[in-house]
Amino acid sequence: MVNQMKNVALVKQLYIVFSVIFMTSCDQPKVTVFSNCVIPSFPAANSIACADGKITSIGEDLTGDIMINLEKGVVYPGFMDAHLHLVWYGKAMEILDLVGTKSAAEITSIVAQVYDGSERWIIGRGWDQNDWEIIQYPNKESLDKVAVDQPVYLHRIDGHAIWVNSNVLSICGIDRNTADPIGGKILRDSSGNPTGVFIDNAMDLIKKFVPDNSKNDKRRQIINAVRKLNQFGLTAIHDAGTDIETVHILKELIAQEQLTIRVNAMLNNNSEDYQEFLTKGPDITDKFLSVRTVKIYFDGAMGSRGAALLEPYADDPKNIGLNLTDERKITEKVNQFNAAGFQVAIHCIGDRANRLALDIFEESGNQNARNRIEHAQIIHSDDLPRYFDLGVIPSMQATHCTSDMYWIDERLGDERLHEAYPWQSLLQTGSIIPGGSDAPVEIPNPLLGIHAAVTRQDTSGWPAEGWQANERMTIDQALASITSWAAYSMFAESYLGKIKPGYIADFTVLSQDLSTIDPAQIPSVNVHFTIVNGKVVYRR
Ligand SMILES: [Zn+2]
Repeated sequence: MVNQMKNVALVKQLYIVFSVIFMTSCDQPKVTVFSNCVIPSFPAANSIACADGKITSIGEDLTGDIMINLEKGVVYPGFMDAHLHLVWYGKAMEILDLVGTKSAAEITSIVAQVYDGSERWIIGRGWDQNDWEIIQYPNKESLDKVAVDQPVYLHRIDGHAIWVNSNVLSICGIDRNTADPIGGKILRDSSGNPTGVFIDNAMDLIKKFVPDNSKNDKRRQIINAVRKLNQFGLTAIHDAGTDIETVHILKELIAQEQLTIRVNAMLNNNSEDYQEFLTKGPDITDKFLSVRTVKIYFDGAMGSRGAALLEPYADDPKNIGLNLTDERKITEKVNQFNAAGFQVAIHCIGDRANRLALDIFEESGNQNARNRIEHAQIIHSDDLPRYFDLGVIPSMQATHCTSDMYWIDERLGDERLHEAYPWQSLLQTGSIIPGGSDAPVEIPNPLLGIHAAVTRQDTSGWPAEGWQANERMTIDQALASITSWAAYSMFAESYLGKIKPGYIADFTVLSQDLSTIDPAQIPSVNVHFTIVNGKVVYRR
């Protein structure tokens, strides 16, 4: 009897012990503490506690269930890239890399190495005739010499032009009788024959013949891209042109807990990509994926003289650039998408494109839609205050300035050079500038973006005084551009972009405090940890 009572008491005790263990593990999320770190926004603290993917407290010597030693690393809110191309970046890792090539001959020798005479398309990207000794467009003949009977298809660095060989022209049925499409240009020789270079909408004549990227290819490219982006310290990206299949792949990865970066998707301006969402409204239920933006192309790019300018190109006096999408159509779509609860992001590079897009947004009157202009590279002085006044967000890429500064004066001429990449002028009007890389056009390393923003120099320190140095950002502005301003431009400022209790636990941990070092040293700072949703997704 006594023994029986003892047993009952023992069972009760065990029950209490197990209940406590069970309740702590199920009812209360485990607390992860990131310790031994420097937090520039909280100088007195050295640790951050998180639970359930969110920051719970910031303080000195905090303790928790899981302790992660950040080894004196400097903790910033997770870095975001407000404009890049996710699948294209992943794909760029798998095709011929022509970035930094110095001549057409160097490229044809690269093509010669992979030529096998099969029907497989040889695809590459990254050529830029502005970087060559002889600055002129290449032609199909030079590719024909090394690959006469195999298709060769090479993207220019900015994705706004392609260079192909004669084999591609015959596959696509293109000859001197093929007309230039609206918003596109087929470069031709003196007798009207295509030279092998196609600009902006003319690329569509060829694109449709390029073998499809399968869903499996895309999935692999996304996984490889995300791994690399995490290595650069990125915890969130804005994908500037997402198709519906990519949305599905991202959702599958989220369901399998495999996506380690937050994606703000800007849907392509194709009805098959946006129609489903337009009917059911924005998809913002999961903080790893938000679908509430549609991206529209207005003009081309400066490098290929497709950007729409108010006055002709200084180095091409008959050319004012290309309108890729009809203005009336854009107006209709802005109204349609805004009414359905979607933000509209319009690609505008030249001052004419920027002005017309601002006119369209002004006419639409949807000031709370947080509509964006992507790139906003060349802005007429009269239009500078209109971004803030109209609630339109200029989404810019600092490294575009430092890549283009070697030749942009030839395109614009001296008189309007002040219009180029006017960051500080825009900021002074009250505007914010979310920052991005446009990868794979530029390397998506946010430290390179910050360096370009605060110096307007290349990584070798040229030019010594900074290019149009009055337009530089301060380090605080450059950091805001890839944290809080990038969060605002995706409607996420209430939970992303700051180190603050209640905010999501996304952090970029660096080897040094960027505010205290010589800006020239910024590109050589290391990313020690990338933390997404309270979990380490990259460790150096
Ligand atoms: Zn882009």
